[in-house]
Amino acid sequence: MRFSKMFIPTVKEDPKEAEVISHRLMLRAGFIRRLASGIYTWLPLGLKSLKKVETIIREEMNKKGAQEILMPFVQPKELWEESTRWEKYGKELLRFYDRNNRELCLGPTHEEVVTDLVRKEVRSYRELPLNLYQIQTKFRDEIRPRFGVMRAREFVMKDAYSFDVDEEGAEKSYMDMYDAYTNIFKRCGFRFRIVEADTGQIGGSFSHEFMVLAETGEDIIIYCDSCGYAANLERAEVGYQQDKEISAKKGYYKKVETPNKKRIEEVSSFLNIPPQLLVKTIIYNTDRGVIGVLVRGDRDMNETKIKNILSLEYIELADEATIEKVTGGPLGFSGPIGLKIPLYADRDILYMEDFVVGGNEKDMHIINANISDFNVEAFFDLKIAKDGDLCPRCKATLNSTKGIEVGHIFKLGLKYSKAMGAKFLDKNGEEKYMVMGCYGIGVSRIIAAAIEQANDENGMILPCSIAPFEVDVLPVNSSHRDSMELAERIYKDLLAKRIDALIDDRDVRPGVKFKDCDLMGIPLRITIGEKNLKDGFVEIKHRDKKESLKIKKEDIVGRTIEHVEELKRW
Ligand code: ATP
Ligand code: MG
Repeated sequence: MRFSKMFIPTVKEDPKEAEVISHRLMLRAGFIRRLASGIYTWLPLGLKSLKKVETIIREEMNKKGAQEILMPFVQPKELWEESTRWEKYGKELLRFYDRNNRELCLGPTHEEVVTDLVRKEVRSYRELPLNLYQIQTKFRDEIRPRFGVMRAREFVMKDAYSFDVDEEGAEKSYMDMYDAYTNIFKRCGFRFRIVEADTGQIGGSFSHEFMVLAETGEDIIIYCDSCGYAANLERAEVGYQQDKEISAKKGYYKKVETPNKKRIEEVSSFLNIPPQLLVKTIIYNTDRGVIGVLVRGDRDMNETKIKNILSLEYIELADEATIEKVTGGPLGFSGPIGLKIPLYADRDILYMEDFVVGGNEKDMHIINANISDFNVEAFFDLKIAKDGDLCPRCKATLNSTKGIEVGHIFKLGLKYSKAMGAKFLDKNGEEKYMVMGCYGIGVSRIIAAAIEQANDENGMILPCSIAPFEVDVLPVNSSHRDSMELAERIYKDLLAKRIDALIDDRDVRPGVKFKDCDLMGIPLRITIGEKNLKDGFVEIKHRDKKESLKIKKEDIVGRTIEHVEELKRW
């Protein structure tokens, strides 16, 4: 395409509204424009990149036999009531009425619609397995839309849904998507990690997130370099040293006054005892009544772990009134000694001695407590993992890093097929529920993630596979006839060889052309300058390298093709 004819509104200054580099650069390079909070228009350049990502996704999905469909964006309330999500989904689901007073919503995801489709159309095991996908707009009324298209309200997602006759089939479908996603993200040029994610009621290891490694990521990844274990923070397990002795001390504890000292740091500095020797007692409301959970003072509780271990439907921090009622003391002074509710503890507590707990009384704590002083139902891994913890698999040291979630695969099991009656007749003519899986990719988020991963002070450094153009043909002086003629010829030859080339045919200063080329992250630049041309040379430069290569003008098309092919190999 010709730069002079394209709508590429680049901007020199950094836009104030943008907090992260990808957002700034997408605005500056003329990829997107904001319409309202979390809602963006894709301009020609951005859309070109987006379409390239879509093509990669389609190719890899189709290779696995998934079939593309396009489902409605607007969905009726009744379907969401069947899955009980109308009530559960919360405010991210944007709801509205039509002229006939029927309630509808904008699709944040499509399990209901696809399950409805398949339950109506598929009767027999012969028609299964089935994997249907779409690339489409989603709307989620996010509480904090930010970072441009990274956490938008309206965004493009690829969502796929698999239907199988049994567990084994569902696991194969899952692995197919695992492979497809791995290929997709490799082709997008990402440095990424595949991490285990929470499976909730489903259990097992059938939820993985694909995380692009980047400092601005909103997610924390816990990983082990020794054995390859990797999980998101919510899911990450921790290994515990088991060689210490469990203390048998009992009855040494003593009440001490801690006036107005509620938080761990306050109690710790007041008593001059380090937080590692304090134990927090957290009171929760759950569907199985009020429970207390203990964790070491310097660590945080992972509520997802408790929820999964105890198979709870819900868990939430108890309100002050409940705390007063079950402990006898106010918030901030709860402790395990004398407590009548079921107690669960993180395994750290098992090996502690002479620690501090709350006194279940205003302004009171207890020192020199030991685990024999109270009754714990069970000890589990309940804390939030962090750097330096032991790997749950091999006991080496865990590390952490930040990531951007670009994909998520999940085994759904019978959740939706049971709720919505998606059944088929098996070989023996028996009616069975379909086993489902769902698989999402944040298509628009991918562009932002790619920019977060590679950029410099001049702009984006995009992977060749998803950059808006592969090559920028840049005649330095637009009024120099020979330069322009050669540029035109190279440009046309590249197009004929199916190279996605841009020609900067604008009559502007060279500096402007160079700056725009860098800003837009085009991987290769062919510079045609008067001086070099006199000797029969042009220059080719990689966006991420300092030096350029001088190449004979007759060879430039062939060499460029080689470079593009090399850049696209993954
Ligand atoms: P997150 O934890 O980031 O909110 P999610 O768990 O809600 O993600 P899924 O429901 O699994 O996401 O959606 C599939 C994919 O869609 C995600 O992996 C992510 O890449 C993308 N995605 C989700 N929410 C947004 C958003 N608000 N803006 C852009 N992309 C999104
Ligand atoms: Mg979300």
